[in-house]
Amino acid sequence: MAMAGCVAAGNVALAAEGVGIKPGTPEIPGTPWQVHDGTRPQPRVVETGGALSVKAPGDAKVLFDGKSLDAWTTDGKPASWTVKDGILVASPGTLTTKEQFGPVQVHLEWRVPAGRQVNGQGGGNSGIFLMGMYEVQILQSHTNRTYPDGTAGALYGQTPPLVNATAPQGEWQSYEILFHPPKYEGEKVVKPATVTVIQNGVVLHHAREFMGPTKFRQLATYPPKHPETGPLSLQFHGDPIEFRNIWARPIGGYDVEAK
Ligand code: MG
Repeated sequence: MAMAGCVAAGNVALAAEGVGIKPGTPEIPGTPWQVHDGTRPQPRVVETGGALSVKAPGDAKVLFDGKSLDAWTTDGKPASWTVKDGILVASPGTLTTKEQFGPVQVHLEWRVPAGRQVNGQGGGNSGIFLMGMYEVQILQSHTNRTYPDGTAGALYGQTPPLVNATAPQGEWQSYEILFHPPKYEGEKVVKPATVTVIQNGVVLHHAREFMGPTKFRQLATYPPKHPETGPLSLQFHGDPIEFRNIWARPIGGYDVEAK
């Protein structure tokens, strides 16, 4: 998200978009922070060894193996993102899986190309949307500062990662994500969606609750009706973010056996 919040790339001196600024957005309940609050503390930086490249387990749905985009569509049409030298390059349109997932484990690897000028939310931005609506942010966050709920691994617009574990620009990063959809009774949420995120082997969130589907500059809240499954989607935010080795495994609910 945050297309509308982009500052044009090109001025490195401004490479701290939103930092130190109260954005005038709604306050997040239970916190003193506003949505996209630049005065919220920056996550502590942790140096890592970079991506953990995990081969798809035998029961995984392979979503991208360096060749085919058969598992995806772009905005309902045949997938049109670029594949070059075994790497998937973010291109116009949202890339969405044909398969629908409920509780799911996802592995993906991503990279912001070296040498690309990055400024806050601009230049190095993508994201993975669970059920097509809950974003875990992808951003060049190694040397680039932005509002903490928009940094790499943030539940965008809601909760920053526990730490900043982003490897240098030009290096591969890995995400392991465990996601459970919200539980409803009628039109009421009785258990919010939760997510665990591990980047480059470092935990960013552990069973963290989403406040609702991702919103930009607004409070996220749960709608009265919610599907039980949804696709995974990758965001095109104007930047040619690169991906490799993407797979997913249904994992069952908290109280349901995995299939
Ligand atoms: Mg994004």
